Parts: sequence; structure tokens; C-alpha cells
Amino acid sequence: MRQITETVVMESSREPLALLKSRFGYDRFLPLQEEVIANVLAGKDSLVLMPTGGGKSLCYQLPALCFSGLALVVSPLIALMKDQVDSLLANRIDAAFINSTLPPGEAGDVRARAIRGELDILYVAPERLALPGFPEFLRNADISLVAIDEAHCISEWGHDFRPDYRNLKALRGHLPGAPFMALTATATERVREDIVSQLGLEPVDRFVSSFNRSNLTYTVRPKRAAFEALLALLRRNPNGAAIVYRFSRRDTEELAEDLREEGFDALPYHAGLDGAVRRETQERFIRDELQVVVATVAFGMGIDKPDIRLVVHYELPKTVEGYYQETGRAGRDGLPSDCVLFYSRADSFKHNFFIDQIEDRGEQENAQRKLAQMVQYSELQSCRRRFLLGYFGEALEEGSCGGCDVCSTPTEEFDATVISQKLLSGVVRTGERFGAKHVIDVLRGANVSRVRELGHDRLSVHGVAADTSESELNRLVEQLLEKGLLAKGDVRYPTLAVTDAGWRFLDARERLVLTRPIRTDGAAAAPRTRELDYDRGLFEKLRVLRKELADGMRVPPYVVFGDQSLQQMAHYLPQTRDDFSRVSGVGDAKLAQFGDRFLEVVRGQTLERGLTPRAMPVRRRSSRRAGPTNQETKSLIGQGLSIAEAAKQRGLAETTVLGHLESLAEAGEEVEMGHLSLPVERLEAIAAAFRETEGPQMAPVRAILGEGYSYEEIRLARLLLQRAVT
Ligand code: ADP
Ligand code: ZN
Repeated sequence: MRQITETVVMESSREPLALLKSRFGYDRFLPLQEEVIANVLAGKDSLVLMPTGGGKSLCYQLPALCFSGLALVVSPLIALMKDQVDSLLANRIDAAFINSTLPPGEAGDVRARAIRGELDILYVAPERLALPGFPEFLRNADISLVAIDEAHCISEWGHDFRPDYRNLKALRGHLPGAPFMALTATATERVREDIVSQLGLEPVDRFVSSFNRSNLTYTVRPKRAAFEALLALLRRNPNGAAIVYRFSRRDTEELAEDLREEGFDALPYHAGLDGAVRRETQERFIRDELQVVVATVAFGMGIDKPDIRLVVHYELPKTVEGYYQETGRAGRDGLPSDCVLFYSRADSFKHNFFIDQIEDRGEQENAQRKLAQMVQYSELQSCRRRFLLGYFGEALEEGSCGGCDVCSTPTEEFDATVISQKLLSGVVRTGERFGAKHVIDVLRGANVSRVRELGHDRLSVHGVAADTSESELNRLVEQLLEKGLLAKGDVRYPTLAVTDAGWRFLDARERLVLTRPIRTDGAAAAPRTRELDYDRGLFEKLRVLRKELADGMRVPPYVVFGDQSLQQMAHYLPQTRDDFSRVSGVGDAKLAQFGDRFLEVVRGQTLERGLTPRAMPVRRRSSRRAGPTNQETKSLIGQGLSIAEAAKQRGLAETTVLGHLESLAEAGEEVEMGHLSLPVERLEAIAAAFRETEGPQMAPVRAILGEGYSYEEIRLARLLLQRAVT
């Protein structure tokens, strides 16, 4: 029944790997991207689970270019659509969005363009699907692919249920010919299966990538002198964007103020602030005009900033899920970034106070359990990454993860037999009715009234570990818990008890070797140096240029180039356009649009400061010659046919023929098209509009020129103008 044979005709110039470089500027796929894309191109439905930063968007954006029709992307994050579309336009991919932020009338324009085949990708908000006229639109548009982003929103089991997502239920049936994709970063088994059944996707191929964010470093530090510690973290990367999460609204305002006094660009963000203020703060943050946002958890959902270098939790989060999600906003671009948590038990007591107010018993217990897991994470003496991944059901092999404070703190092994025996005995002798604090007080013979009141100063274990520090004993308790020799009650009554394994250890007088840090000052883990060794001065200069260009185009700086691209420029020091084209993130459109500006800065600095360029890594360029279907178009146009004639002869739309000519131009192939010229005054008007918008995108140019100019004409003019300059 599927009518995909028409739409799935793949042209060899539209091979995924070739498109990855020419349109997106990347040399390699991220894990699972290639597999997902192959599945979509085979016309099959896919469920895609990848962490934030895993590269989900490319999984539908790239197939959208392989198919000749329109890719429909449903997303609830209206605030992000414009930036996503701008990013695509910067790569000269014809994209648009329809949501409630569009002025009336414009949605109709976008729909018309989609029906005329002028768009590759269309983002829509889910509520649009229920509006009158949309089903008709779906019938008229040549939809080659449907991607449902944030697909967990369809499930009531998920944390972010959106009633509008119910509108998607019928979609599969309406579009039998198009492959469907459901994508999400958060899905438990239950939510996952709910997505599949709600959307009616069975049979579906499931793609689940690792949730390990290897570029993130996890650190927990005691919440002492927290403000100074925060300043030190911010100073380490004076230009890096940072989010500091706080529990209360008032705290966000105060801390932001304190940071401003220390000379940092910091603003608060919470749900109590005026909508316009919040939007402005968010906007400035995304546009690199604000370094630090001090926020409640209300901040983050609607931001897609790829270069957040630091996420600090000033207070203990309530759940591991929340913590993983919030820290996940750091380093989406894959560059090293830090996640630091300031931990104090007092914060967990504060949460408990609120949990006590929850009326529903089941809910209350659930909240307690979740908090206990967060406390466990914070007190961990073993790899934090392994814990986080284990929490989501993924195993990480033993050994140092290389990216958490526990793994990067040098440790030594020591014989812990005797001290562990003392500790377990202390737990037994006090009746297995007390938490670590009291047991440790007894063992250390601390001068505390509670010990005396309970008569525990008369126990044989009183004072037997007087020469061991409290923090060492605490660490020992954690390790014995992890080894399963001790067990702990719930958060409210975290009493210690000796397990069966603990008793066996005591009875058999086994030897026990544990580890302890060599240095115990609790300093934050040193940042890992997996970054390229790039020239910082040049990097800053390139950032300034990026900002200037982005402001001119009214887009966020990352739309021009990501940090990764700038770092590569500042490392390899490309001197020619060919060198430059090999930088990651540089596709054909960005090479044409920005190459010379960036090269000028790189060359200037190379000369001025006597830097030595490095050889660029060689990349596979073999598949870049435009494919056979393009060649056929080339030959027809070369014989003097007009676009309309060539399209007719080949049974293709005019836009497809124009697309071929663009691919040919991108591949650097000469096509004889002198006969395609436009009236001079029209060409000049179009050229002026492109100059005014400073970009190759069609939409802004059309907006200037008005109805009198068709998209086909503008596209043709763009081709002719490019030929004129090269
Ligand atoms: P997600 O939606 O899964 O959070 P994105 O689609 O936003 O992830 O991608 C995260 C980042 O990775 C973006 O900055 C994107 O440009 C980049 N990216 C995606 N695919 C690749 C690739 N193959 N090579 C390098 N960078 C990539
Ligand atoms: Zn680790």
C-alpha cells in the first residue's frame, strides 16, 4: 500500500555521507545516526532514543534532503523552532515552521510554499494538526517523512505529557506512504512502548543509543564556601556559558546579584518573573550576551544552546532523573563541559520537610525514594557516571570513567579489615537502630550528649576508632554500603544494619581491601584535556567575528559556527578555502557564505603572530561528484533547454531541476546556462535583496521583493549570481 517508490527514489548525489559533509559540514556520523538514516531511507518506521546532544535532529534532517518531498517535523518546543529553522537556512536547506508565533496569514504562505514543493523541512506545532484545513494540507503536500520530536510527550506515563500530542494518533493512518520517526531523549521502557502503541507504529525498528555523555565531567563537592567555589569555577572559563540551578526564586535573585558584584554577567530566571523579562534573559543567553543564568528548574526546557560549559547545582536536586536532565544541557556540542553539585545533608532535610507535606501516601513514598537515590549519588565513593548510567539501566564497564571526581581523585588501596570490623560491630552493638552519624560518634568517643543519654558511652565499641577522622569513617560507611556489607533504611530513617554478607565477613574474619583518596581536600576534578590544543587568542577573535555575523543575520552565534568549528580553525589555522572546507561544521553553504571572512582573520593572525598552520585531516571527498540524475539534468540544460522544458522532459518538478543545478554548482561542476538568464533589472533587484539580507536564504529575500517574484525565479537568480562571482 505504501506509495514510497515515488518518493524514495534516491539520487546518488543525495547519498547520506556526501550530504553530511556538503550540507551539514560533518565528516562522520555520530553513533546510530547512520543506522537510523538507512532505516528511514528504506521506508521503515523508527523509534529513536538518544540522549540530549546525541544528534537526533540530523536523523530526520538528512533523509529529508534525500527524499524529494517534504519532511514534516512535529515538535512541542515552539520557542526552538525559529532557531532550528535558522540553522537549516544557514546551511541553505529550505526549511520553515508553522506555529502560533507566526503573524496571521503567514502560516498560509508557508503551507502554499510547502505544497509548491519549495520546502525540504517543515516544523509544525502539534496543535496545528487539529486545526481545520490541516488534513487537507497533508493530502496536498508531498510528505515524504514524518518526524515526531520529543515523542515522550504523547505518553501520560512520561514527565511531560502534552494533550496536543493526542492529535498525532491519527497521523500514521493519514500518511500511509511516509516513514515515521519518533524521537526522544527520555523514555523508560513503559513510555517507549506507549509511544509506539499510541502512534500506531508497530512494526517499528528501535534504536537506543548509549546515554553516556562522555564529554561531561561530574563532580560533587561539599557545600562549604560554596560562593567562592562557584567563582573559581566561573573564572576557569571566563567566556563559557553557565547555568546555576537554585531551589528558591529568591535565592536565584540574590546569587545573580552577588555574581554581578563580582563582575560576572549574571541574571536570575524563574517562573515568577514577567514573561517578557524571561524571554529577554533567555534570548541574551542564547546570543552569547549573558554568561550566567541563575535559575530554578523552570529554566532550560526551551533552550537548545549547544555550548553551555558549566551546569552547577547549588542545592541538592530532588531526583536523579531531574539531575541527569539538567546536567544534560551542558556540552551538547560534544566539547568538554562540567557538571558540579554542591552537596549538604541540610539540603536533603529541607526537601524532606516539603515531602512531609505531600498528602498522598504513595506519592510521598515515591518522592522519598527518589530523594534517597539522589543522596546516594551525592555520597558515592565509586564512579558517579556508572551510577547515573546504572540508574537508567545501562552498564558501564569497570575501571576509571576518566570524567568524575571519584575516578579522577588519586586513590590508594589499604587494608580496611580492622576498621571495618570495628564499624560493623558498632552498628550491631547500638542495636542496628541508628544512622551513620550516631554510630560514628560512638566509635570516635565523641563528646555528644545523645551518646551519653543512650548509655552508649558504656559500650565496648565506644572510642575504638578515636584516631580515625569523621570523614574517613563516613567514606568507609559508603564503601561498606556499596559492597553490600551494610544496608541502609529509607531517607527519613537512614538506619544502618549489617547484611548477611556483613555477618559472613565478621564471622570468617575475612581480609578486606578498600581504597582511599591520597589527597582529601575535596577539590573539583581537574578539567580533562581532550580538547584540541588551540590558540586561545585566535579563538576569541573568531568568536567576535561569529557574533558580528550572527547579529547581522539576527540569529544565535552557534547558527554561524559551533565552538568545535572555531576550535578547529584556531588549531589547524587553515590558509586556503580548500583547507577551510575541511573544518568540521563547514558545509558548502557556509564555506561560500563565511569562508573568506574567517580565513581573513586566521591568515591575519597567522602572519602577525608567526603561528604555524597544521596539516588538515584528510577527508573522504570521493562521493562529492554530483550523481547521474544531476548529470542528466546538466546535459539537458547544456543542450539549451529551459528549466521548464527540462523538467517536463524528465517528468520532474521545476524545483527539483533547480535542486539539481544547485547540487551541480555545489560540486563545482560547470553547467552551460547562459540561456537561462533573467531580465537584467530583475536580476539586479534580486541581487540587491540578497545583499541586504546578507545570506543565501530565500525567505527573507522574498519578503523584501514581494509577490511579484516567484521562488523559482529567486532560486535561479541565486544560481546565476553565484556563477557570476566564482
Ligand atoms: P539532540 O536533539 O539529540 O539533543 P542535536 O540534534 O541538537 O541533538 O545535536 C547536538 C549537536 O551535535 C548539534 O550541535 C549538532 O550540530 C551536532 N551534530 C549532530 N550530528 C553531528 C555529526 N554527525 N558530527 C558532528 N556534530 C554533529
Ligand atoms: Zn567515574
